[in-house]
Amino acid sequence: MIPGKFDYFKASSVNEAVGALQNGGEDAKVIAGGQSLLPLLRLRLAYPELLVDVGGLDELRGVADQGESLLIGARTTHYQLVHDPLIAEHCGLLAQAAATVADPAVRHRGTIGGSLAHADPAGDLPAVVLALDATLVATGTEGRREIPAGEFFADYLTTTLRPGEILTGIQVRKLGRDWGYRYEKFHRTAQAWAIVGVAALARRSNGQVAEARVGLTNMGPVPVRAAAVEAAAAGADASAAALAAAAAAAADGTNPPADLHGQPDYRSHLARVLTGRALAAAAGV
Ligand SMILES: Cc1cc2nc3c(=O)[nH]c(=O)nc-3n(C[C@H](O)[C@H](O)[C@H](O)COP(=O)(O)OP(=O)(O)OC[C@H]3O[C@@H](n4cnc5c(N)ncnc54)[C@H](O)[C@@H]3O)c2cc1C
Repeated sequence: MIPGKFDYFKASSVNEAVGALQNGGEDAKVIAGGQSLLPLLRLRLAYPELLVDVGGLDELRGVADQGESLLIGARTTHYQLVHDPLIAEHCGLLAQAAATVADPAVRHRGTIGGSLAHADPAGDLPAVVLALDATLVATGTEGRREIPAGEFFADYLTTTLRPGEILTGIQVRKLGRDWGYRYEKFHRTAQAWAIVGVAALARRSNGQVAEARVGLTNMGPVPVRAAAVEAAAAGADASAAALAAAAAAAADGTNPPADLHGQPDYRSHLARVLTGRALAAAAGV
């Protein structure tokens, strides 16, 4: 279908984009890579009157080394995440998950900021930034604001970004060499959306898992942390059996959807199995 009519403004700076959004009010929307928004426009599930294009803002693109952490520009594409040397060295989980997003064409256009702001619970990167304890950086008319990833996803396709705010960056602490990671994605066909995904991080010390972090994709209207698994895995032996036992709690407190690809009990089963696998791989067993 052809989208409804809208005005289009190509911003040349973040301030200009924020100003245009403010003037456009409730009917203005940001567009970055367009990989989620354009399908919605074409299906007429979204009909903004103004699109503010941040796709030309180089200041929002790329990865900066900030010492203890990395600052990833919101307009950094999935392709760049997969190939960036700083991400590979300090935050490989993000590259591993980004490599599973869609196909090469989508990965070349789609951005991390768009994926997070779109807040699709089946999207791969939201659970990853949760597990990484990332901080999301937004800019609006009242200036810059930092939002912990755990407070960013409010509901299905809804974030805590305020009207007129633009997501400008994602700050992630560098992972030390004692951390392992794995993104496990179960999908019907290669390049398809996750039926369930699991982002796991484990810090190993003296044959045990000292700390574990687990984010779940598509196990509710928002990405969730598997807190019960994290608690059970901390201090457990770094063995497949002990981590599978911890993973038994993966579906606790979740609210998985029912759709053509699976019922909630099937997704719960997948979450337990994939969490066991992801934790074992992250812990190097
Ligand atoms: C065929 C296909 C397959 C796909 N498969 C997957 C998959 O397997 N896994 C997966 O995770 N995703 C998948 N996607 C979704 C897609 O890759 C991401 O959602 C996409 O990359 C979003 O980024 P974008 O830059 O294109 O965002 P856009 O489409 O431009 O925008 C998406 C939303 O985010 C908002 N937005 C964008 N940038 C900002 C910003 N800086 N600040 C505030 N709001 C912003 C927009 O207003 C809009 O609401 C698929 C998409 C397609 C078309």
